Amino acid sequence: MSGIDILTFLIWLVAAITFILALKFLASPKTARTGNQLGAIGMALVIIWTLITDFIVPGQAGRLWIVAVGGVIGAVVGVLSARRVPMTAMPQMVAIFNGAGGGAAAVVAVSEFLASANASEGQLLPIVPVVATLLGALIGGVSLTGSIVAFGKLQGFISGRPVTYNGQQVVAGLLLGALLIIGVVLAVLVNSIPLFLLFVVLALITGVALVMPIGGADMPVVISLLNSYTGIAVAATGFVLGNYALLIAGTLVGASGAILTQLMCRAMNRSLFNVLFGAFGAVVAGGSAAASGEEQNVREIGAEDAAVLMAYGKKVIIVPGYGMAVAQAQASVRELMDLLIAKGVDVEFAIHPVAGRMPGHMNVLLAEANVPYDRLKEMDEINDEFASADVALVIGANDVTNPAARTDTTSPIYGMPILNVDAAQNVIVLKRSMAAGFAGIDNPLYGDPKTAMLFGDAKKSVENLVAGVKLA
Ligand code: NDP
Repeated sequence: MSGIDILTFLIWLVAAITFILALKFLASPKTARTGNQLGAIGMALVIIWTLITDFIVPGQAGRLWIVAVGGVIGAVVGVLSARRVPMTAMPQMVAIFNGAGGGAAAVVAVSEFLASANASEGQLLPIVPVVATLLGALIGGVSLTGSIVAFGKLQGFISGRPVTYNGQQVVAGLLLGALLIIGVVLAVLVNSIPLFLLFVVLALITGVALVMPIGGADMPVVISLLNSYTGIAVAATGFVLGNYALLIAGTLVGASGAILTQLMCRAMNRSLFNVLFGAFGAVVAGGSAAASGEEQNVREIGAEDAAVLMAYGKKVIIVPGYGMAVAQAQASVRELMDLLIAKGVDVEFAIHPVAGRMPGHMNVLLAEANVPYDRLKEMDEINDEFASADVALVIGANDVTNPAARTDTTSPIYGMPILNVDAAQNVIVLKRSMAAGFAGIDNPLYGDPKTAMLFGDAKKSVENLVAGVKLA
């Protein structure tokens, strides 16, 4: 083993350590920035070293411009989009970046297959690298087109409705069957470039076929799953190229994406099968989430009265949801918190694991508004505290507070763990109308005698509460 090889292994090892530490640090908002930076440093180290060993050491520095052009374009697009993207559009940005990762893995697999097929002059290729290459092309291809569809659904240029048709499962089954057969043929029977290209095209079509039937609102779960696929595709590519850094990074992404998918499904009390094949977003995606039940008798409250209720209470628990993100109300919420604390009120935030439209959505928004982390409480931590709260202030959250999840066995969200806001002495709900949330169902909380509705855009309503607390 040459000195360069030893150094290469050492650098891969250092990079692997930074990736693992990055994941560890990303688990808490306090350390997430450091985690992100550590991961980026590890990745930069590997990229620079690969450029040195693949181009400069073999005397190919003249060809570096190809990588430089791609790298500069990628970096500019990445930095600009990350800086400009609003928080509400973060899921689709993750989707499209993830698609790019899957696409890159598929392209590497294609180029590796073509190079080995051309070099082998019709001889069957060694089975292990061929299987890894096929996996890279298949999973990377599915991830690329699946992520593009997910991006389109979230961005609104593809219908957010689950697109279903008769025989759809049969078509998906046929596609997967064809991929399996062609894969086996390529691995053990013939070495054929046209057949391999057909395999890649079918993988791309499969990505579209699998994601189109899923509702737009379920896309965060799908993106997390596709993210995991991309990781596996990258790991397969790392195996083919003999690059351990890629193999480790891909495995970590694959495993963490799978765990995140599972956590989201568990927090919604839905199986992954139900997310992928349940066409759950149908009602919401249409835009008029028609609640199913009868009319409820609801009580309204003005901002001034609501402000007095909070300002003279001992404890207020704020429950943020998707509506706070839509209204971009987080800065005003922070102001409200400061004012209440100054009046001696104990203020805490109850964070449901799937509040909003992506994992950690509320944590990121509140961190952006500089709400101290120690005021954010996870569901399990805070649920028992609602009983001692004078006011539960629900800001644009709906499903995650729906008591039907506890009691109504026929409800689509039955069994989903929820925040026990109905245990508080008073519940004030900020939303614009009586429209349903993501699940498209009635929320009996609004008919509870303890609940008062403050209708309007959440930002405006919170600003009015701020004004009210100042006067109280
Ligand atoms: P919901 O979608 O249940 O409710 C959001 C509420 O916000 C709506 O009822 C809406 O009512 C209100 N709202 C929207 N815009 C505004 C505005 N500008 N001002 C005031 N209110 C507004 O959100 P939750 O956060 O409670 O629950 C999240 C849902 O998303 C769950 O069902 C979860 O399973 C699902 N989900 C979450 C994922 C995640 O990773 N976080 C992933 C996939 C799904 P109105 O229109 O009347 O204003």
